[in-house]
Amino acid sequence: NGRVAAVDLSALDPDQAAAVRAPRGPVCVLAGAGTGKTRTIIYRIAHLVAAGQVRADQVLAVTFTARAAGELRGRLRDLGLGAAANTVQARTFHAAALRQLRYFWPQVVGEVPWRLLDRKFPVVAQAANRVGVASGTDSVKDLLSEIEWAKSALVAPEDYAAAAAARQRDIPFPAARIGEVYAAYETLKTTPEGMLLDFDDLLLHTAAALEGYPAVADVFRERYRCFVVDEYQDVTPLQQRVLDAWLGDRDDLTVVGDANQTIYSFTGARPTYLLDFSRRYPDATVVRLERDYRSTPQVVDLANRVIGMAKGRIAGTRLQLIGQRDDGPEPAFAEYPDLREEAAAVAHRITDLLAGGTPAAEIAVLYRINAQSEAYEQALTEQSIAYQVRGGEGFFQRPEVRQAVEELRRTAVRDDLPAASRTGENLVTLVRATLAPIGLTAAAPAGAQARQRWESLIALVRLTEELTEQHPELDPAGLLRELAARAEARHPPTVQGVTLASLHAAKGLEWDAVFLVGLTDGTLPISYVLNGDGSVADPAALEEERRLLYVGVTRARSHLRLSWALSRGDGDRRSRRRSRFLTGLIPEESPASRVATPARPGTEAARPVCRVCGRVLIDSETVLLRRCKGCVGEPDLELLGALQDWRREKAAELAVDPRGILGVNTLTAIAEQ
Ligand code: ATP
Ligand code: MG
Repeated sequence: NGRVAAVDLSALDPDQAAAVRAPRGPVCVLAGAGTGKTRTIIYRIAHLVAAGQVRADQVLAVTFTARAAGELRGRLRDLGLGAAANTVQARTFHAAALRQLRYFWPQVVGEVPWRLLDRKFPVVAQAANRVGVASGTDSVKDLLSEIEWAKSALVAPEDYAAAAAARQRDIPFPAARIGEVYAAYETLKTTPEGMLLDFDDLLLHTAAALEGYPAVADVFRERYRCFVVDEYQDVTPLQQRVLDAWLGDRDDLTVVGDANQTIYSFTGARPTYLLDFSRRYPDATVVRLERDYRSTPQVVDLANRVIGMAKGRIAGTRLQLIGQRDDGPEPAFAEYPDLREEAAAVAHRITDLLAGGTPAAEIAVLYRINAQSEAYEQALTEQSIAYQVRGGEGFFQRPEVRQAVEELRRTAVRDDLPAASRTGENLVTLVRATLAPIGLTAAAPAGAQARQRWESLIALVRLTEELTEQHPELDPAGLLRELAARAEARHPPTVQGVTLASLHAAKGLEWDAVFLVGLTDGTLPISYVLNGDGSVADPAALEEERRLLYVGVTRARSHLRLSWALSRGDGDRRSRRRSRFLTGLIPEESPASRVATPARPGTEAARPVCRVCGRVLIDSETVLLRRCKGCVGEPDLELLGALQDWRREKAAELAVDPRGILGVNTLTAIAEQ
């Protein structure tokens, strides 16, 4: 039954094949991006099934998303498993738990009815009310994500305050109060009509049933005999508990992961399970893969440098990727005066790629936060390029944007407004005033949800400014018509379009061409890991932001373009700085060279920028050092060394004693000769 022809392993390299052929038992593949981890687990399942070592329906493969589960089954079919591929249980932790819970609930809990609580929001709002904590939409969403974190981290309500103290939280409430809301939330889910189970409860109940009811455990351990987990670096303590419950005292478990791609620790995920695997299973087959099959050597080199700069690197992650593919273009870096120019330039490049034959499905624009999609939706729409937003709604579908437009509609129909406040620049003022009560504060607010809303509202103001520039006579009703027309124009494409996605949603995926956009300090790294003066508020969180850049870079097969804009372009003229993570990555910026950042379109000469903070350098004193006055004081051995070399060279060239060339002023003077 289900026996299929042997799987051809010639499409694997020897290390991958070793992981595939390893006997049943604990196997751990620790490897960087693009080395074929996902490919390896697919082959391993196919190989074990084809070799008759396990039945397809005894395999439980856990993937990070439902979509990845579907893809895994598809690839198993391609490998010749045929119908057997469909009996492999490829699911997310939650989907697997839901399925199991349906089965054991009557045995374990009995008659009590239960219902899946997929909309937690009203229950958390009620809990917040009960405790007397502010229950505005954003607060409730923030409270909800704290509760989700606590449950994933196996932190009970009574332990919440203590656990939260050790952790940077992006939420403006005292920990003790959040703990109370969490406790109230748990109580409220038991109702006279039965129990409400949220997604985490599915996992908790599954683990508890297997741990506490041997009869239930026996059924499941008979049913599932071979476990496989992809993206194991992002497993949460709760998921690990479920995995342990599935396994019991068995050890038939294959895990693959890359600690350098840990990007979900805000959900409670931790890479320790991956890194401690061989301590936990001393007999484990541990395979390290180093060959990168996804990306050109140029992209691989950049990826290596990004991760090489990580501070306090996670032990056991010192893996260098070795590119296997033919050479491709160098990754490009580009700076723009504002966001619109950046987006327009990206859209132009995409047009060129499409014209050159790259399919739209092979192109992605990746950003840090969803609100950043607006500029790209707009630019792509203007250039008639189809796109889809992955793992999120398009700009005009977002709740905060819909609400904002509702508010604007109300303002527009109010007839007691002085006519003067209805045109031109004043329309922008009016829009700002209208949006102020729903979250458009002067500075970015605290709290992840509030900030997301704020960013969306800022994007709306920016759009209004542009519209009033194009149509100075625009009144509120006209503005609404324009916004509606844009929302209409951005309907989902009927063909496969270019992908817009957050870096988090891009995990595990790959495209021929990747645009990493909006790489400014405060966006990547995101503002809440920094203090107001730009110093680091949370070093661990900063490193996670750096790993996001690594994830982004490693999504590209050949074309990679990293860009940023020096102003947001919504009337806010404060200059923004290039992401600190780019420092030292831009090839032309080796310290002693005088090549500046790439010129933006339409300007003849590129302006040199500070290699630390990204500010345009105006002071000739510091141009040579490529540092502004604020950053010049930082000790930097590499830089000093390069400077010394340069001094020596210059001294030789000018036939003077190097000791005679002392100050930066002198050097600059010479350099400018
Ligand atoms: P990530 O960490 O981003 O999830 P990964 O390690 O899971 O990456 P895969 O997605 O499995 O990597 O593989 C990356 C790409 O390299 C895929 O296109 C895959 O088909 C290809 N690939 C993997 N191994 C080989 C190989 N031995 N020969 C040729 N191509 C390979
Ligand atoms: Mg993968």
